[in-house]
Amino acid sequence: MSHGPILGIDLGTTNSVVAIADESQARVLPTELGHRLIPSVVSFRPDGSILVGEEARERRLIDARNTVYSVKRLIGRPFSAPEVGRAQSRFAFELIENASGGVVVNVRGETYTLTEISAFVLKEIKRVAEVALDHSCSRAVVTVPANFNELQRSATKAAGRVAGIDIARIVNEPTAAALAYGYGATRSERVAIYDLGGGTFDLTLLELEEDVYEVLSTAGDSFLGGDDIDLVIATALAERMAEETGWNPTEDRQAFERVRAAAEWAKCQLSDLPVVKIEVEELGPDSLDLRQTLDRPELEGLIMEQVERSFDVCREALKSAGLRPQELDSVVLVGGSTRIPLVRDRVQRFFGKEPRTEIDPDLVVAQGAAILGRTISGKSERPPPARAGIRKKTAAELARLRERREKRRANLPKQPAFAPTIQVEGPPPLPPEAVVVQGIQQVAGTTKDEEESLTMEIDSGMMEIDSALTDLDALELDLPDHLMGDVLDLPTMDAPPQIDGAQQVGIGGASQSTESGLDGESLFTDEGLPPLPAIEAPRVSSLPSLQIGGSGERHQRGEPTLGFGTGVDAAPIAPPAHIDLADRPAPILMDVTPHALGIELTGGYSQTLIRRHAPIPTEAARVFSTAADDQEDVQIRVCQGEAPRFEDNEPLGQVELTGLPPGPRGTVRLNVTFQLDASGTLDVKAQEVTTGREQTIRINLLGGADDAELQSMTERHSQLVGADE
Ligand code: ADP
Ligand code: MG
Repeated sequence: MSHGPILGIDLGTTNSVVAIADESQARVLPTELGHRLIPSVVSFRPDGSILVGEEARERRLIDARNTVYSVKRLIGRPFSAPEVGRAQSRFAFELIENASGGVVVNVRGETYTLTEISAFVLKEIKRVAEVALDHSCSRAVVTVPANFNELQRSATKAAGRVAGIDIARIVNEPTAAALAYGYGATRSERVAIYDLGGGTFDLTLLELEEDVYEVLSTAGDSFLGGDDIDLVIATALAERMAEETGWNPTEDRQAFERVRAAAEWAKCQLSDLPVVKIEVEELGPDSLDLRQTLDRPELEGLIMEQVERSFDVCREALKSAGLRPQELDSVVLVGGSTRIPLVRDRVQRFFGKEPRTEIDPDLVVAQGAAILGRTISGKSERPPPARAGIRKKTAAELARLRERREKRRANLPKQPAFAPTIQVEGPPPLPPEAVVVQGIQQVAGTTKDEEESLTMEIDSGMMEIDSALTDLDALELDLPDHLMGDVLDLPTMDAPPQIDGAQQVGIGGASQSTESGLDGESLFTDEGLPPLPAIEAPRVSSLPSLQIGGSGERHQRGEPTLGFGTGVDAAPIAPPAHIDLADRPAPILMDVTPHALGIELTGGYSQTLIRRHAPIPTEAARVFSTAADDQEDVQIRVCQGEAPRFEDNEPLGQVELTGLPPGPRGTVRLNVTFQLDASGTLDVKAQEVTTGREQTIRINLLGGADDAELQSMTERHSQLVGADE
């Protein structure tokens, strides 16, 4: 059965991007307005309607309480996670705990799970792709940060389900970026992917050889990104204002939101200009304005600490891979925040080589995902029939759409959030045909069998275990001591205590993807991809305009990650949003699991089933036997982490085996297999040893939704944003 083309989706914390690949090209699909970034923002309006994407981002300025963003930072995290508290302290919308210990947002008296919020974004991405391709699209490869755990991956998959998208594969963002660059196609290379986005920072080291993409290590910081930089800048602006006027905008959430937006705008400007003037009118009581200038050295002084923090993460990843910065062949920049000159400078200094930026750092991940999508779809796919309901918008419809947008904008408060007048001493303005950006107010393994005879109790006396264990220890590689020494001598390292490089370099082989290795044929027909709808000429606004000089590609495209300014597409001077793929072999991906998977043993101990950095897909099996006569069910608690005590690890949830056949204690034996699939998501199978009968299993992930809950989310979603088919 055909599912249509497989999209590549970069579901970002801040912005999402959708791309598609055929045998010759991977290209990004623009929105009707020609934009390639879809803000991952959802806003709930008083009339019950829901805005997603750019319009939602604009509403954050005037209705921050009911505008939800950055949910990716929290998705799949239990409410008790420290990240949730941290996020709540800075988000204007409300987070509350649901019955299963998960996080839900409370807007306008309704609660929504983060899976549902992500589904709104995914649905909008699907819509954009369907309009652009004039095809129905219901399958995708979706990217996630390499350190996303089981809960986060499964929540992402669930979001796909709610949005009507079958997620054919979840792939790590850095792996997708490396794929887009075509690393390993001709020779073996070691690559670092430095990804500084809006919400998070990740550094991933990959070894690439003949299209085997192996993750060596990954490290990240979920509170380090453009948002955090904006917050530092906004706080400084607010403090200055407090000194000058006696009123501090941090006292009023909505006012501070506008300062934060101004800070983001100034930051983006300062990637190209030496100095900017920031004005936020009528911000405070008695029509207090914020008027300040910020120059690049000042900005760099403010954000230096945040930028330096990224290198602590880099050192951690290098240490776990047992590598020195100089041992890398290249460094790839990913994420909007890598446009900051200070970041580029510091990356170059740290790694001792100029980072690669030929592919747009905003688009590279989605393009990589699309390339993988093409591979997965292989030859078996037939072109889908064009769906009647999906068609390109006519010029009149587009005009009406714009008119509505304008109207909505006109309804925003009369006084601009701030009117960014800039360019105190910038480079000469570009010639008139260059970009005019509106200054409107908006924001912006078989391996070794180990016979163990263990008796353990699981979950308060329920069970004994004897085991046949599949593990990957036999495949571990010890690093030579001299190399470890080098690792220890990394420059200016604040060495965290544990050095675990030897265990963390996994050599796979037994388990690698079988889905790959197909040569990618056109998803459609011999004609390749259908043409994209024409993007209309730039619209010049009657609103106060802002001329931007400099070389920032994003500025030149007039794309919406600027704190301000959108609505103009600079297609004529935009860099190509496609990658040529001709003659590239299909990739074989070999990702690793970012965290160890363990189960609870008697006495509060934990046993690692699948170690950290094991190549996926992988599996581990255990034989359990009943601890009581006629025992009907059993529960196995599952955790993430390698600490000896269960409680020192992060709980993931539990696996329930029900409907066990009756029999005296110890006679009913179950072979339980824990599998991590190619997407890194957990699947558990159980078989009764004597009869070979499959056992019913339920995986209850912390904060996760069961089938019935997912079904009701899907129904509500359809009611809110329209049924899919
Ligand atoms: P994510 O992966 O989190 O979705 P992106 O890669 O889209 O995020 O990056 C968004 C971040 O990049 C935002 O914080 C935005 O302010 C920042 N950004 C975009 N353009 C620039 C620029 N020219 N200079 C500095 N930061 C930028
Ligand atoms: Mg990103």
